[in-house]
Amino acid sequence: MKKLLLLIMGLAVLALAARFLSTVPAIQDRLVARGTATLAQQAATPLPIPDGLNIYVCGSASPLGMGQAQACIAVVTPEHFYLIDSGAGSTENLGRLRLPMARLDGLLLTHFHSDHISEIYEVNLGSWVGGREQPITVMGPQGVGEIVDGINATYNLDRIYRVGHHGADLLAPELGVLQHQSLAAGQTIEDGELRITAYAAEHPPIEPALGYRIDYRGRSVVVSGDGNVNAVTRQIVDGADLLLHDALSLPFVTTLSKSLADAGQTRQAQIVTDVIDYHASTESLVALANETNVGMVAFYHLVPVPPNAIVADMFLRGAPDKVTMTEDLMWFELPADSKDIVIHKP
Ligand SMILES: [Zn+2]
Ligand SMILES: [Zn+2]
Repeated sequence: MKKLLLLIMGLAVLALAARFLSTVPAIQDRLVARGTATLAQQAATPLPIPDGLNIYVCGSASPLGMGQAQACIAVVTPEHFYLIDSGAGSTENLGRLRLPMARLDGLLLTHFHSDHISEIYEVNLGSWVGGREQPITVMGPQGVGEIVDGINATYNLDRIYRVGHHGADLLAPELGVLQHQSLAAGQTIEDGELRITAYAAEHPPIEPALGYRIDYRGRSVVVSGDGNVNAVTRQIVDGADLLLHDALSLPFVTTLSKSLADAGQTRQAQIVTDVIDYHASTESLVALANETNVGMVAFYHLVPVPPNAIVADMFLRGAPDKVTMTEDLMWFELPADSKDIVIHKP
């Protein structure tokens, strides 16, 4: 007992000494120099990208976010880097994942709800400053030109300030201006060994809305954006390794709506009820997993992000093993010409 007391007192003295030392400016300077050296070394070391299709969750949330970033999926191979949507908070996750922003090939938008487009300029700025050598092309359904023209106009002064400050040699002005390309359902884009296929997503009244299937060296992923499961979804996931689909917990959302109504918050109750008809219920996704040959179904764009383990369990009620939940910073590794899916958790 006495020994334990002495040990505790010794640890307390050490903690106090460490706290005192950390307030000494010379020691603070040494610690900061060591920390920045580590950060700089990390930034100078290219991220190893496994050979195959690598899918990073840069945003797993819907507007009901609970601390997670809104919709964003990164598709990375040794030669390609595309982003699908750019929701609030997702650019910070791209940094945490240490994705190679300077070689970003393009941004694919599923539709123009704010939770899918709010950080387009942050992605543009981060990759421009990072040394990207081509302008970013933002691709999406009809209307993408209006979005891109608006962003370019909104940030025109920001671009002028930054070029004026850093100089055009370091920050070429033309690389800061977003380009755009409209895509229609059924349209494909070939980029070397990577093929992107746009498909129609059912997200009424948003018309058109798209989802994307990406195929690369025998591996494939489908990313839904927002929408219900329908015959098109069943067709596009045929033979796909991985489906990332927006997912709404009907039991949770219905209960939340009722609680809001009971508390007299009828307006909020109505808004919560309204989101039900244009997001895929977890039940419809479990049925899809059971009825199709898709390799794995991962829920993202969670409505809502589960605030605790009980709600997380609700999402997976009745789900087979091939259904899983995502969270920010998780990534799926699909090695080339294989059937394996390796899940990396943060
Ligand atoms: Zn959304
Ligand atoms: Zn939406």
